[in-house]
Amino acid sequence: MSAATPRNIVISSANGLRACSKAMDMLRSGADTLDAVIAGVNIIELDPKDHSVGYGGLPNEEGVVELDACVMHGPTRRCGSVASIRNIKTPSLVAKAVMEQTDHIMIVGDGALKFAREMGFEETSLLTDESRIAWLVWKRSLRDPAGHNNWGPGLDSPPAKAPIAELKQFFPEATEDTLAWAWSVAVHPPKGTINCLALNTRGEMSGTTTTSGLAWKIAGRVGDSPLIGAGCYVDQDVGAAGSTGRGEENIRIAGGHTIVENMRHGMPPKEACLDALKRVARNFDSDRNRLAAIDINFYALRRDGEHAGATLWNSRRPDGTWSKTYSVNDGGESRLEPCVYLYEKKA
Ligand code: ASP
Repeated sequence: MSAATPRNIVISSANGLRACSKAMDMLRSGADTLDAVIAGVNIIELDPKDHSVGYGGLPNEEGVVELDACVMHGPTRRCGSVASIRNIKTPSLVAKAVMEQTDHIMIVGDGALKFAREMGFEETSLLTDESRIAWLVWKRSLRDPAGHNNWGPGLDSPPAKAPIAELKQFFPEATEDTLAWAWSVAVHPPKGTINCLALNTRGEMSGTTTTSGLAWKIAGRVGDSPLIGAGCYVDQDVGAAGSTGRGEENIRIAGGHTIVENMRHGMPPKEACLDALKRVARNFDSDRNRLAAIDINFYALRRDGEHAGATLWNSRRPDGTWSKTYSVNDGGESRLEPCVYLYEKKA
């Protein structure tokens, strides 16, 4: 591992450009690395237009938004986490409160909400109008083998029209763009999450991961994001790592911890992440047909500032750029860099 002087650097998932900029501003003004990454992801948690994180995140199958988040603070080697927490827009801050104010690491469900209330967090519905429409459209999209759905027109009704026109009848207030988006997320439940990792000039590192988890999940389902060692792991003697994408696959290989351990044993961040992806693939006997359904990404930041984003499948867009990227800020503007990948998907 190189002994280069540490520098301010922040990396994040592709949805984290603004998070990286905010965290970098804070690092420059001398803020703690954990406060910096949390302030960064708070922007996305509070953004109703990001439907994979915080407020406006897509709900579970019951129409309730349940959030997962964790934080890990390198200098004190402490961490905190919440899972399946409802009604609080910034679960990353609740995870930090668990770390700082309790002798526990993880609080879930009703207990997490109660704890957040006691800590003075404001309670509010996290379901936006757009997310509610997407949830109802998802319910309508579920069909039995005869094409019937109790949330759709009755068996005695005329044949279904094109979905957008049909949906317009039921959601006249929604624009066609909203309905087209709602249909696409209903049929292809999106993934998303934000992971953000930072290093400062003193060699201190922290990380956080926050998410609304998989859209339409079973109530109470917890993904990798709040799990220390899966969604995020930091050991500032070595580096930090995090993940987005199908949490079930990450949990099975403890990706965050695996990548940090790989770096501890000398692998550069790219190889460390690719090795984690190979472990994911190995769980499917490297069968690309089965792996085709899996979207998973890893991010690694080494203590000397070297970093990587890695994805199971990458593909080239018609303009030659890569579809899977991650966010980086090393002092200037935040930018997207291509992820290394295990497999290439032909366009
Ligand atoms: N990793 C998240 C989860 O499994 C979802 C995602 O990043 O898409 O909950």
